Amino acid sequence: MDLGLTGKVAVITGGSIGIGKAVAEAFAQEGVHLVLCARDGERVKQVAEAIGSTYSVRATGVRCDVTKPQDIAELVRTVEQNFGGADILINNAGTGSAEKIMDAPDEKWQYYWDLHVMAAVRISRALVPFMQKRGGGVILNNASICARQPLDYEPIYNVTKAALVMFSKCLANELIPYNIRVNCINPGLILTPDWYKTAGILSKDLGITPDEYLKQIAEKNTPIGRFATPQELAQFFVFLASPRASYCVGSTYYVDGGWLKVVI
Ligand code: NDP
Repeated sequence: MDLGLTGKVAVITGGSIGIGKAVAEAFAQEGVHLVLCARDGERVKQVAEAIGSTYSVRATGVRCDVTKPQDIAELVRTVEQNFGGADILINNAGTGSAEKIMDAPDEKWQYYWDLHVMAAVRISRALVPFMQKRGGGVILNNASICARQPLDYEPIYNVTKAALVMFSKCLANELIPYNIRVNCINPGLILTPDWYKTAGILSKDLGITPDEYLKQIAEKNTPIGRFATPQELAQFFVFLASPRASYCVGSTYYVDGGWLKVVI
């Protein structure tokens, strides 16, 4: 199936590893040019270069901490200089947290608010005018199943991801007249390097291997009984960003192996 994405330009935050990198590769396979950003500038540049040469697309890596407005300004400048704008924005950069509400300081709340919400607000605000000039665009926000079904150990993550879901809905309503489709994706368990790191630490206490730990988590939580690969999730991002998904707008889609326990 031709997804109609060839020659489009996508900006992906947190594009150097895990889900963001898998989405970048899946886009590149469709002939989409890329701007990837992350805090580790060397790594993101290397990843962009490798993807660009493997799939014969133009791919640029930019060092950018999306919690910092000045870094976002630099990212947007690069997008404008290299491509004159963008057609697709994937707000993906993010990470889990671990705290009790009673103990967590304001600074921690503020950091996650900037990372999961304000980054999407600021980058969308900066790139939408280019999308308007190009006649349309797509914005996909990567939230989490935790936006609706919280995990006990990470209230700040749950709250800020829930805010990202609502931001997506509000932005979708505002941008529909400009042929810009905004949607949100709530993934469940996706086996990224971050999970391997967590498993490496937590499995030791339980006296089991990291693989056994991951298997237990998947079997305990998901009806499907396993993690998804980042590539499985990436396919959904690519479809949703394509004109094939032209009637999909203002929604939040779960890709969670049946983990969400309620009907919505
Ligand atoms: P990874 O930790 O594997 O990758 C995170 C990416 O974001 C990296 O490229 C990292 O690069 C970048 N990043 C982190 N902080 C910043 C920052 N402040 N500014 C710019 N870039 C940043 O995470 P995942 O791939 O697992 O997760 C990606 C997204 O998916 C996150 O938003 C996460 O909440 C969400 N998600 C993940 C799930 C999972 O099971 N894996 C499930 C549900 C949602 P660098 O460190 O160099 O900045």
